[in-house]
Amino acid sequence: MRSINEQGYHFEEWLTPSEIAKDVQQVAARINADYRDKEPLFVVVLNGAFVFAADLLRALSDVRCEVTFIRVSSYYGMATTGKLEFIVPLQQVVDNRDVIIVEDIVDSGLTIHQLKAHMRAQGASSVKVATMLYKPNKLEYDDAKPDYIGHEITDEFVIGYGLDFDGFVRNLDAIYKVKE
Ligand code: 5GP
Repeated sequence: MRSINEQGYHFEEWLTPSEIAKDVQQVAARINADYRDKEPLFVVVLNGAFVFAADLLRALSDVRCEVTFIRVSSYYGMATTGKLEFIVPLQQVVDNRDVIIVEDIVDSGLTIHQLKAHMRAQGASSVKVATMLYKPNKLEYDDAKPDYIGHEITDEFVIGYGLDFDGFVRNLDAIYKVKE
């Protein structure tokens, strides 16, 4: 098993590149079946989702689709007024489109909760969520439960395959879990 040290923390490999590839294929098979006759718009949430999105989209052999990118930051301090700030705003018109949001990981679900509301307000006909990882124990927003999930995980902090530690290690080819 591979391991790395990053900023004083020890991480051990948890999902290998071939295990990740299986998860991606399983998600792609479901989207291929569900969107065969549609022309969905994939909205990839930067920065973390770019690696998963690149693999997932190339596995969608049966789906004619478009892809666009957004970058957001959400404020956790004031949960009730929790406002979504678009650092890279949505460039594409989502009115009457079947939207699939692509995320690296869904944790509290705040980002997805707010993004879904935004897409609906812009007139999207449907909004689904595909994520590489999902922390079900951490979910705080019912409507943020992802529709397509690569792998579920408990509460541990993970890095690699797009997921960062203070901006670094997104380029690791596997997903690593922090060890105490
Ligand atoms: P949410 O809005 O669902 O609470 O947060 C989702 C975001 O939190 C992810 O896009 C990611 O940036 C960050 N995040 C949550 N858990 C982890 C983790 O275990 N590792 C890393 N690197 N980021 C995480």
